[in-house]
Amino acid sequence: MKSNFKTSFLRTLLMTTVFVLPAATGCKKIKDQLEQPKLPPPQTGSAEQVAPALGISLDAAVSEKERTLFKEDIRFLQNINFKPEPEGYFFKAFSFNGALNILKFIDDRVGFIIGRDTSVDSRFSYTSNTGNHSGKAVTIATNIGMAVWLETIAQKRPIQFFVNNTSVPVNDPRVGIIRLAEGYTNYDGEGRPMNTVARTTVLIHEARHSDCTGGLSERDAINLAAGQLPENRSCGHLHTICESGDYEGLAACDGREWGSYAMGWLYANEFKNNCESCNEAMRQTARVVAIDSLLRVGEGRAASMLSKSLPPPDLSSTPTLR
Ligand SMILES: [Zn+2]
Repeated sequence: MKSNFKTSFLRTLLMTTVFVLPAATGCKKIKDQLEQPKLPPPQTGSAEQVAPALGISLDAAVSEKERTLFKEDIRFLQNINFKPEPEGYFFKAFSFNGALNILKFIDDRVGFIIGRDTSVDSRFSYTSNTGNHSGKAVTIATNIGMAVWLETIAQKRPIQFFVNNTSVPVNDPRVGIIRLAEGYTNYDGEGRPMNTVARTTVLIHEARHSDCTGGLSERDAINLAAGQLPENRSCGHLHTICESGDYEGLAACDGREWGSYAMGWLYANEFKNNCESCNEAMRQTARVVAIDSLLRVGEGRAASMLSKSLPPPDLSSTPTLR
């Protein structure tokens, strides 16, 4: 049985990914075509736990450069110090049990990091092909876990992801399989990565794609099986086509409130006023990232976020059909 996800339109919206700074434009395609027969388990090697207290594994095939940068990001998040306003969106989104814990937000939603050079196809019990870059796109990372989980709903069959020489059922989008892309390590095309403020914003963005907020209905499952989008676009926080600005016509905007770009904005914006451990360079980067993110949340939503009239984000996820 083949996937029904055949139209480029649908694939574009399902490529749960893309984070592009103003210098670049574009979007990333993921083509999930799952085919018989079932594949034998590959030898994937041993994954590395990124930090003792976290459930995030770095796949054996993650390159040294990717590994170094990712660990730097985690250390950055472990050491960053914000003093947010308790009534603000940021505190409401990233505090747990009264303590600010951005890392927990990511840890709950990101389980596996795989490198750009790893063949994703070889890691699923059924093949899953990823597309190529389009145009001038700079892809930083892709949340493959959500795209594949939607396939399990569409095809009504379990799909496993192979890592650490074992198989992990993709039975919840919060399994969180994130594939790093070229932009993560080589953002400017000359071997320089994005800086860590921008990279950690990408992690927040990708983590949000692991939420199926509001769950899927039977109707959504029927739509997915027919190669159409679910009515609930907050499941996976799928990108939508931007209606204006630099990204007009590209699937590089949030489709609903508090999508991945809005969550990235929330994080980057906080550097401006409330980061106690940040230097001026970090603040400047954060400002650029925050502005770029805000341009992608939709005009009406951006205004209501700035005026704080939008209700705070619903960070729940429902991995079963309702
Ligand atoms: Zn995205």
